Amino acid sequence: MCLRVVRGSLGRAGGHGGVRRAGEQCHRPEPAAALIAIFDLDGTLVDSDEALAAPLLELGVPRERITFGRLLADECALHGVSVEDYLDRYDPTVARPFAGVDELVAGLDRWAVCSHKARVSGQAELARLGWQPELALFAEDFGPAGKDLAPVLDAFGVTGAEVVFVGDTAHDRACARAAGATFVLAGWNARARPEPGDVVAARPLDVLEVL
Ligand SMILES: [Mg+2]
Repeated sequence: MCLRVVRGSLGRAGGHGGVRRAGEQCHRPEPAAALIAIFDLDGTLVDSDEALAAPLLELGVPRERITFGRLLADECALHGVSVEDYLDRYDPTVARPFAGVDELVAGLDRWAVCSHKARVSGQAELARLGWQPELALFAEDFGPAGKDLAPVLDAFGVTGAEVVFVGDTAHDRACARAAGATFVLAGWNARARPEPGDVVAARPLDVLEVL
């Protein structure tokens, strides 16, 4: 099987579907067992920028100073607010799935969530969305450096070569590389920036092509 390749520059993924890898015309996966899909949550499965920003705005942080993709503790420290005050104001009912993510989730076999979101917020969102990954690890499950695929691989009893990690940030890419996993960039998030070597999925359903 030859996956469809989106032609064009390695810029932000646009409205075309497909999976591409920089410098490749056609990506042929090995005919091996299906890979386990591990997903970041914020910015990958759910469009949560406004939900994540709202507590900070309420706490008086100017919108232009808010960043996304950091550890919550780091973002709070940057603005001089406490994680407790942030979580008191975080509404886990606001974030919505990106278009096509519900269909992607419905088409997955074995999958997991690996997010450095606070567990109370992440579990509430998974329950609300009706998503039931085989495993969901959150900030409390990792060390101070943030999320890490190692405990996910341990739980599944697999190596990095047997999973793909789908995420939207440089930290997600680094997690995948450290674990020897294929990184798939969530190109449907307009903030996601591809780097050479990334597999870029322009639409959520395109992830199924690499599993
Ligand atoms: Mg993210």
